[in-house]
Amino acid sequence: MDLDKLQTTLEELGQPAYRFKQIKLAMYRDLKEGFDAIENIPIALRQDLNRLLPFNELILKTEQKSLDGSGKNLFFTRDDLAIESVLIKHGDGSRTVCVSTEAGCQIDCSFCATGHLGFKRVLSPSEIAEQVLSFSRELKAKGEKVTNVVFMGMGEPFLNYDNVKKAILLLNDKDGFNLGQRRISVSTSGIIPGIERFGAEDWQINLAISLHAPDNALRSRLMPINKTYPLEKLMPALDAYVAKNNRRLMIEYLLLGGINDSPRQADALADLIHAYGEILRLSVVNLIIYNPTKDSDGHWDRFRSPSLAALRAFEEILTKREIAWTRRASFGSDISGACGQLAGEVNSTH
Ligand code: SF4
Repeated sequence: MDLDKLQTTLEELGQPAYRFKQIKLAMYRDLKEGFDAIENIPIALRQDLNRLLPFNELILKTEQKSLDGSGKNLFFTRDDLAIESVLIKHGDGSRTVCVSTEAGCQIDCSFCATGHLGFKRVLSPSEIAEQVLSFSRELKAKGEKVTNVVFMGMGEPFLNYDNVKKAILLLNDKDGFNLGQRRISVSTSGIIPGIERFGAEDWQINLAISLHAPDNALRSRLMPINKTYPLEKLMPALDAYVAKNNRRLMIEYLLLGGINDSPRQADALADLIHAYGEILRLSVVNLIIYNPTKDSDGHWDRFRSPSLAALRAFEEILTKREIAWTRRASFGSDISGACGQLAGEVNSTH
C-alpha cells in the first residue's frame, strides 16, 4: 500500500490521525492481508478504503519452490510490469529475502538475466517493501519470520536511492516491520555518488559491492558501469566508506568459468585489495558460483560455472594472500533464484 496515498485518503475521509498508524501496524507488523482483516477499524472505513485504495501495490502471480526450501515469487505491478524476489532458507534457521528495486535494470551486466530485459522503471518504496511482506506472511503461517533483507535482486539500488532509502526505513520502522538495520544489506554495481551518499547516512545498513573482476578491461566487459566508475575511482570511494563507517564491506565476486576464475586473476584480486588498507582491514570477498541460465527461448547463456579445481585454486590463493573470503552457498539454482538470474523466465511466464 502506498502510505502517502493512505495518509491523504484518511485525511479526505475526515479520519482521526491515529488511524494511519493503526493501518500501518496492521500491514507491516501484523501482516494482515487486506482492509477487511483489520478488525480494529470501523467496517464503514474498511469499505471506503477498499473502494479508494489498493491494499497491495503488487499482485502475486506465481510462487516457485526450490528443492532446497528457497522460493521465488513473481509479482506484477499495477501497471503490469514483472518483478521477482527470492526467499533463501539457511540451515541455521535464518530467512533472507532478496528484493528487486527496479523493473528491469539500467546497468546491463553481460552475465545477468535481468540486464538483458532492459529497464522499465524504478519501484516505489511500498513496491519494494511489499516483496518482503509477501514472504513474511507465508513464513508466519509456519511460525517463522524474515530475519534478513538484501537489496540484491533486479535493478541497481543506487539509481533509485530515494525510494530504496524509504523502503529501508519502512522495514526498519519500530512501528511496523521492525527489522534491525544490521540485518539489511544493499548491493551496488559501483555507483560512486550512491556509495558516498550511503556512507554519509546515519545508519548501520550493510554495503556490498559487486566487483566480479580485478581489472578494468574485464570489468568493463562484464559490467559496462565500470567505464563510468572505473576501479581507480571506485576502490578509493569504497576505502573512504570503510574508513568513515568502520563497517565491514562485502565484496561480491561471481566466478564465471574461464572468464575471471584463473590463478592470475585471484592474485590480481588480492593485489587490488592489498592496495587499499581500509578495504583490506574490513572486507570479505564473497565468492559466488555462477549458475548457467536459459533465456525465454530455452537457450543456455554463454557463461558457465567454474570447475571445482579452478574454484579450489582461487580460494587457496586468496587464503595464502591473507584475504578474508567466504563462498556463498548457491540457493535455489533449480528455480533460477540465484544471483543475476532473476527475471530469466519473466518473459515466458508473463
Ligand atoms: S547484475 Fe545487478 S546491476 Fe548488473 S544488470 Fe543485473 S540487476 Fe543490474
